[in-house]
Amino acid sequence: MNDTIAAIATANGVGSIAIIRLSGDRALEIAKKITKKENFTPRYATLTDVYDLQGTLIDESILLYFKAPFSFTAEDVVEIQCHGGFIVAQSILKTLLGYGARLATPGEFSKRAFFNGRIDLSEAEAIAQLIEAKSEDAAKILARQMKGELKEFIEKIRDEIIHILAYSEVSIDYAEEDLPQDLVKQIEAKLGDLADALRKTLVASRSREGLMQGFRVAIVGKPNVGKSSLLNALLNYNRAIVSDIAGTTRDTIEEQVKIGTHLIRIVDTAGIREANDAIEKIGIERSLEAIVQSDIVVALFDASRAFDSEDAQILSLIETHAKDKRVVFVKNKIDLQERFQNDTIAFDLALNTKEGGVPLIAMLEAIMDATQSSDEMMLISQRQIEAVSKTLQNIEDAFVPLADQELEIFSFHLNEAIKETASITRPFENDEMLDKMFGSFCLGK
Ligand code: GDP
Repeated sequence: MNDTIAAIATANGVGSIAIIRLSGDRALEIAKKITKKENFTPRYATLTDVYDLQGTLIDESILLYFKAPFSFTAEDVVEIQCHGGFIVAQSILKTLLGYGARLATPGEFSKRAFFNGRIDLSEAEAIAQLIEAKSEDAAKILARQMKGELKEFIEKIRDEIIHILAYSEVSIDYAEEDLPQDLVKQIEAKLGDLADALRKTLVASRSREGLMQGFRVAIVGKPNVGKSSLLNALLNYNRAIVSDIAGTTRDTIEEQVKIGTHLIRIVDTAGIREANDAIEKIGIERSLEAIVQSDIVVALFDASRAFDSEDAQILSLIETHAKDKRVVFVKNKIDLQERFQNDTIAFDLALNTKEGGVPLIAMLEAIMDATQSSDEMMLISQRQIEAVSKTLQNIEDAFVPLADQELEIFSFHLNEAIKETASITRPFENDEMLDKMFGSFCLGK
């Protein structure tokens, strides 16, 4: 018997409605106690008064009862939609706990759904990430994954590997002779197709990391080129969604801004100021770090000053460390008299940052839109990427032993590949990983 868990599922704050969830064997019994009602019809919305332990009225709420196994957790679930704000939902929760429910840990509802076979791990991950999606496009991908798209893809791959393995195991058990060459060719072709599909998925997933996590944009350039001004212009553009989030190091701050349908993170190097040390002068270390962390680099150059060794250093950083990134070269301060001379830089934009950053915003939006989702299967977490990489590696490692007729080694690799695919959807053996994963979910989810 599972204990009965309870949590407020809606965000903490003032809103018109809050939802409290209850799941477990005693959910219905507790629901009856707090409402003083005889019974509830499954899946019907019931308008009911809710009382505390002393029998004092707390609120009038809508109560929904989902009878096991037809609920999110596959257990008896009760959802109470009460009035929002800081007090009512807390009072109801307190009463539920008073009647013997236990406060759920973060992600515990999803964890129960997983262990009761209602969702697999890829679906659980998608639900958790959907709540925190960084763009409309990411949300679409996550919604599809929540409905089992990745599960189907992985299960198909797994079935095919098992099928191929069955061929070779039969040969190991019964055949005295080698596998016939035409069979080897057939298996090679099938494995080749599988490897191609996995490779495509990996490439698509890696190249769209920004889409899922929020694109990271680094603004780099020598001191006084206009980095802070540009950052302010970007932040002012959409005041509604600006927040500071902790950067990965002490020295960088990240700001979040919404551009179009995307949430971008600006890795800020604006604080870089002149120092005595020639290298520290343009904050090479911090610029480098910002470049490495980013998906898109905005490289600023000052039209009013001659190209100098500091600009050259920024250029060389970009050449070496931003090879696989989109770099937007911006000539700033075009309202001043031009003194900048360098034919090797092909500028994407010329700006007067004092007048705002609108042209850059449009360009960033176009770049982000261009990496939108396609039909390719997407992986949404580092965990999934690692498992698919290892699956692919084992499939690739199976070719040589197959050609050499070393069928035991061949089947070892395919068995490993099968294990890796299973880990994407049902890694039951790894409790620690599961605890860590579900623990990162929202409370009440
Ligand atoms: P940072 O050191 O790269 O962050 O540069 P700042 O943003 O602090 O800008 C340095 C100076 O250049 C400030 O006085 C800005 O007002 C000025 N500035 C920035 N962009 C422009 C521009 O497009 N035109 C002009 N005329 N001045 C600018």
